[in-house]
Amino acid sequence: MNQDYDAIIIGAGVIGTATGFELAKRGYRTLNVDKQPTAGSGSTCNTCAIIRLHYSTPDGCAMARESYFYWLDWGRYLGVADEMGLAQYVNTGCLVMKNGRNKDLVNVMAALDELHVAYEDLAADGIAARFPWMDTRTYGPPVTTDDERFGEPTGGHIRGAVYIPESGYIDDPTLACHNLQRACEAHGGEYRFNAEVVEVLKSDGRVAGIRLADGSRIHAPVVVNVGGPHSAIINRMAGVLDGMNITTRALKQEVCYVPAPAGMDYHQLAPLISDGDIGCYSRPTTGNHILIGSEDPPCDVLEWVEDPDDYNTNFTHQWETQVMREAQRLKGLGIPGQTGGLVDLYDVSDDWIPIYDKSDLPGFYMAVGTSGNQFKNAPVAGKLMAELVDQVEGGRDHDADPVTMPLTYTRRTCDIGFFSRRRSLNPDSSYSVIG
Ligand SMILES: Cc1cc2nc3c(=O)[nH]c(=O)nc-3n(C[C@H](O)[C@H](O)[C@H](O)COP(=O)(O)OP(=O)(O)OC[C@H]3O[C@@H](n4cnc5c(N)ncnc54)[C@H](O)[C@@H]3O)c2cc1C
Repeated sequence: MNQDYDAIIIGAGVIGTATGFELAKRGYRTLNVDKQPTAGSGSTCNTCAIIRLHYSTPDGCAMARESYFYWLDWGRYLGVADEMGLAQYVNTGCLVMKNGRNKDLVNVMAALDELHVAYEDLAADGIAARFPWMDTRTYGPPVTTDDERFGEPTGGHIRGAVYIPESGYIDDPTLACHNLQRACEAHGGEYRFNAEVVEVLKSDGRVAGIRLADGSRIHAPVVVNVGGPHSAIINRMAGVLDGMNITTRALKQEVCYVPAPAGMDYHQLAPLISDGDIGCYSRPTTGNHILIGSEDPPCDVLEWVEDPDDYNTNFTHQWETQVMREAQRLKGLGIPGQTGGLVDLYDVSDDWIPIYDKSDLPGFYMAVGTSGNQFKNAPVAGKLMAELVDQVEGGRDHDADPVTMPLTYTRRTCDIGFFSRRRSLNPDSSYSVIG
């Protein structure tokens, strides 16, 4: 059969563009196709783009740590200029509150020690001394606003926190995708936009390419599903769901932007905050505003979405709940009368850990289930996917003998089998956006 490309990547979000870049660097003739008009117009454009190192598993911490260095050295990693400029990493530090759900961060600190990451282990008075604008009383475990306990301290002060200076966010995640697109193109990779994949083609028991909504067919021996919240739909098209023990679903998220308390220079003073005691994460954002997201506390009803192209994109009571939760911690935070922020979808796996894997259909791969926590890991995810494709197409049986990959900066070996579609649910996961 005539092959138009060596590999087709479905999706041009941050992980799709990183995968295209890494495959093109290895000499694959790649095509990224996306139904949107530009790179990063899917869930990536609404990401909070937080770069943090604390995950619930040592593998999660190591991948985040490794990726961190790519963001620090972004221009050199890309190796090309972009006429639109480069995305920038903004360092803020990250304060992670200890609580029962994160096991007082004992495992996180052990993983950070192993990775030689500097951090401070703060008691409640240490938090208060460094961040006097915080109310350090305990409010958790979080409850919904209709619970009479809502907003009432539950006794004593939070057990402490870990402050990790090396954390921050990327100022323009859509630009980061454009940067990756340009870097991929510099190696001969191609992009096709406004192109919706409606069929995964097969021939002789393996993948053969894709069919687009306009009827055109594009042939390649490798197809990678990086469809974000549409991942399950694309896996269904390919007929690979039966071979997966871990599946993916779209989940609605509301992110609030609210003005900082009057007179407070939040951008100057505040770090990223991961606060399971109030069920929120937060970071500074433009205009001296605070970005507030949910850490998915067990009391909240999650809004799973059947059709990612047709769901309620309005704010709900969840928006107000998140701001009111944040106001428990941040002294003087007002609740604005008008909502501001964004609504988008996570692509959540059953254990909130991504799937970076092959499938039961030879030649069909997936980088899916990114569970609200993989923007930061895109550079390493792209590398893992390229290594996986290379080795499996070279004849390796990844299911029986998982591919491993050396991590350059952390000097560890990544077992790509950790991200298998066939794994059992990982009991160490937080089962939340923390991963
Ligand atoms: C509100 C929110 C906040 C987040 N905050 C963070 C954070 O702070 N830190 C962090 O690390 N991660 C965060 N994440 C997660 C992170 O943004 C995602 O993991 C990452 O952006 C996913 O990238 P992707 O390339 O896999 O998917 P996407 O960016 O969603 O790209 C998938 C692409 O596939 C295309 N597509 C789908 N179906 C088809 C089809 N049939 N044909 C053609 N194209 C198709 C879509 O158009 C889309 O452009 C957040 C996510 C959200 C939604």
